[in-house]
Amino acid sequence: MENFIYVDNAATTSVSKEALNAMLPFFEQNFGNPSSIYPLGQTANKALNDARETVASCLGAKASEIFFTSCGSESNNWAIKGIAHKMLKKGKNHIITTVFEHHAVLHTVKALENEGFSVTYLEVHEDGIVRLDELESAITEKTALVTIMYANNEIGTIQPIKEIGEICRKHNVLFHTDAVQAAGKVEINVYKQNIDLLSLSAHKFHGPKGVGALYIKNGISIEPLIEGGAQEKNRRAGTENVAGIIGLSVALKDACDNMEERNKKLIAMRDKLINNLLTIKCSRLNGHPTKRLPDNVNMCFEGIEGEGLLLLLSAKGVYASSGSACTSGSLDPSHVLLAIGLSHEVAHGSLRISLSDENTDKDIDYILEVLPPIIDRLRSMSPIWENK
Ligand SMILES: *Cc1c(COP(=O)(O)O)cnc(C)c1O
Repeated sequence: MENFIYVDNAATTSVSKEALNAMLPFFEQNFGNPSSIYPLGQTANKALNDARETVASCLGAKASEIFFTSCGSESNNWAIKGIAHKMLKKGKNHIITTVFEHHAVLHTVKALENEGFSVTYLEVHEDGIVRLDELESAITEKTALVTIMYANNEIGTIQPIKEIGEICRKHNVLFHTDAVQAAGKVEINVYKQNIDLLSLSAHKFHGPKGVGALYIKNGISIEPLIEGGAQEKNRRAGTENVAGIIGLSVALKDACDNMEERNKKLIAMRDKLINNLLTIKCSRLNGHPTKRLPDNVNMCFEGIEGEGLLLLLSAKGVYASSGSACTSGSLDPSHVLLAIGLSHEVAHGSLRISLSDENTDKDIDYILEVLPPIIDRLRSMSPIWENK
């Protein structure tokens, strides 16, 4: 038994036994380079192709549309820069995104802005959802790409992806979605949802770190991000991370095959946490109450600092997060919480609990037992909290 409760699965997840066991032979006896023509290489190549089929089938795509990368950040960089640079040659220099994307998207579009692209940042309103009429009116004849995340990594809100895809199709604009938090947790069908490019990352669904994928719809031309050998049909150079790719495919298939049953359990745990934590005075739930990931709880408690809360929770063996793992260590509150209209002061008191199917009802009861006294203690020490 572990002596801690891990509820930071939006930051990363443990590697499942199934994924690990499937990977091990590709570090040991099957270590060949998939580009080599002798049997050792061909064993690796066959496994690579099988993994591609598996990933494609989980997304409703074709194997020829799946490209493996080194992480979700690389997939996002490649999709956005690769399309933007290609479309610039057709005179299109405008990109539409939202204010609350992951930094792997926001910093990428910022880099393009510095190159001279113009970028529209859609608001996400207080429920954390984009408005379709605002998207449609932002599209111009210069628009090269719309990139909107499937589900937010901090507040878990899920966007109307199919409707966004329909609008993009109607206006003949390409649509990329960062589905790193959604893959394996919500049903994805790239054709039915009119998605042209989609990013995912293995370590967010019990696969290994350092491997991701980008779906690119057949017929779309995109510039490579990594130049070199002819791997991935000349589109992404570098010897494939065979073991990692196998781990990704096994973990994704497992997540997709068991999605319904796991989500039922996750939603029950999530809503038990939310409903009980909302009874704490001056607390609020961030993001839409139902259009959110089954594993995501994000709350603010007025009068406290998220960092202090995390330290005291950690001392009780509960590992959670305050805002995004990438922003902790910075003094600015999360851009996501500011985007849904919270004041700096309230945003500082945020807590993200992200569950996985490894969590149990006992974990939830334990969190509900230790958390309220910690909040009372922090409030009693706070200079800004006047006993409300
Ligand atoms: C984690 C995450 C990423 C980055 O994925 P890496 O594989 O860690 O590079 C991108 N987007 C979202 C929404 C994420 O949650």
